[in-house]
Amino acid sequence: MRPGVRSSVAIRDRGFGFPRTLAGVRIAILESVRLLFLGTGASGGTSGHGHSRRLESSMLISNRATLLIDVTRDFAVQGERLSRIDAVALTHAHRDAIGGLPALRRWWLANRAPEPIDVFLSEATANIIRTRYQRLEHCRLRITAPGDLRRVGPLALSALTVPHAQDPRFPTYAWRVSAGERSIVYASDVAHLTPELERFCAGVTVLVLDGAMWHRRLFSHLTIDEALPTACTWPVGSILLTQIGRSAPPHAQLQREVGALCAKAHAAHDRLAVKI
Ligand SMILES: [Zn+2]
Repeated sequence: MRPGVRSSVAIRDRGFGFPRTLAGVRIAILESVRLLFLGTGASGGTSGHGHSRRLESSMLISNRATLLIDVTRDFAVQGERLSRIDAVALTHAHRDAIGGLPALRRWWLANRAPEPIDVFLSEATANIIRTRYQRLEHCRLRITAPGDLRRVGPLALSALTVPHAQDPRFPTYAWRVSAGERSIVYASDVAHLTPELERFCAGVTVLVLDGAMWHRRLFSHLTIDEALPTACTWPVGSILLTQIGRSAPPHAQLQREVGALCAKAHAAHDRLAVKI
């Protein structure tokens, strides 16, 4: 769909009466951002039925450009229906975040992409990718330090280091992605909430948060029933949980329990599409 068509729909939906001649700046600001959860499960996927069955966690963010966050070992399936990826942002070098890079190469070749895909990542993640994978002609690795501002079309990206892996070779990022007035933070792998992450999330439309553990502890991920009441006090519009592991109840029950802990929080599921 042409950007102009999409943005005029968004304006009508929101009840704004700007004349079409005011296009340009106002339309760019009001244009919606689409989030598509390609996977919402733990490393190795999360078994179950219906929405409780989850592939490894990954998300697509689309405005007039399309950004993929993490390339999982399920990417061959997750990428089947994707016709466009302008850039990739990687959280860290664990296999559930980068293990689909060979499958991304096959996607890139099949889609006859004219240029390598920009891949934004930490230097440590780049080092592991270069040693692990030989064929990287589909990737233009763009080292991004915390605080650097990167752009993909109208999307602006920045990274924050969050606690996750104990091994120092795997520093982990949360990504903040903004388009005009809309913004999201994607923090799928977080050992514990930090004041820095709270500041990083200030004012975002959506926080996508690690929902890995339910009534159980693991050093590398949040125990969401303990962490959610705190995250709920943060100044974010809504919270969507991803990275949901095997300790979580079936999706419908999880949804009820998450809603009881925090009225603005929801459990995401695979293929969930959200327009913000
Ligand atoms: Zn990890």
